[in-house]
Amino acid sequence: MKGKVALVTGSTSGIGLGIARQLAANGANLVLNGFGDAAEIENLRASLASEFGIDVHYEGADLSKAAEIEAMMERLNARGGVDILVNNAGIQYVSPIEDFDPARWDTIIAINQTAVFLTMHHALKSMRAKNWGRIINIASAHGLVASAGKVAYVAAKHAVIGMTKVAALETARTGITCNSICPGWVLTPLVQQQIEARAKAEGISVEQASTELLGEKQPSLQFVTPEQLGQSAVFLCSAGADQMRGASLVMDGGWTAQ
Ligand code: NAD
Repeated sequence: MKGKVALVTGSTSGIGLGIARQLAANGANLVLNGFGDAAEIENLRASLASEFGIDVHYEGADLSKAAEIEAMMERLNARGGVDILVNNAGIQYVSPIEDFDPARWDTIIAINQTAVFLTMHHALKSMRAKNWGRIINIASAHGLVASAGKVAYVAAKHAVIGMTKVAALETARTGITCNSICPGWVLTPLVQQQIEARAKAEGISVEQASTELLGEKQPSLQFVTPEQLGQSAVFLCSAGADQMRGASLVMDGGWTAQ
């Protein structure tokens, strides 16, 4: 992956950071994106650059805003384009449909779904010019099956899997591949919030809430890790995955095998 440029959206935390680290360990230059404290992000940028001896650039685009995505992609295209695009940024909101705030629906669809279309829209031209590219969309077990209370998230993640297949078909005769990864529970801030909300609602400890959360969906009773997801992303970037096109790579501790 030496010399390739990998944009990982939402890479200031959780799964995105895990994937960025694994790509960097394999020699890719990184474009980080995501929210956070400016000094901490600069620290992260500099430490990844020195740990792996690569170039690391940060783009602070808010992916809920089409104009910010376009401006970011224009800047990156002017620097030579993105070779590996990992659409990872995502948010969650849990509520039954009848109480689900329509504004929250719009935000989740914008970040978890529309941004995936927009980054692909702006990245594909330069990938086609090089006849090489890797697009990896982080969907979810919720791209394949549903859970109550997650209408916007489930809709967006199903859409991500659909968009992945369309992109794979449109690039099928090129050196560009597009696949999705479908994680089960991964212990990141996004899931920690859900565990804490559950502990509060049920008057139980955070540890008990975490055990219950896994027990409900994930037969392995173990969290998937960002490192494991990063290793899958590295495989999808390898020549061994040249003919994986439009696949959903499930890493969910058995969640969707049930
Ligand atoms: P996280 O909250 O730890 O990280 C989310 C990242 O996205 C952060 O870097 C955040 O700054 C960034 N982000 C959020 N809104 C943004 C915006 N508007 N613009 C730019 N960046 C933004 O979450 P995570 O658990 O690491 O989730 C990453 C992805 O993995 C998401 O797409 C999520 O749906 C998916 N996923 C997570 C799990 C899980 O169990 N954690 C399971 C399946 C899928």
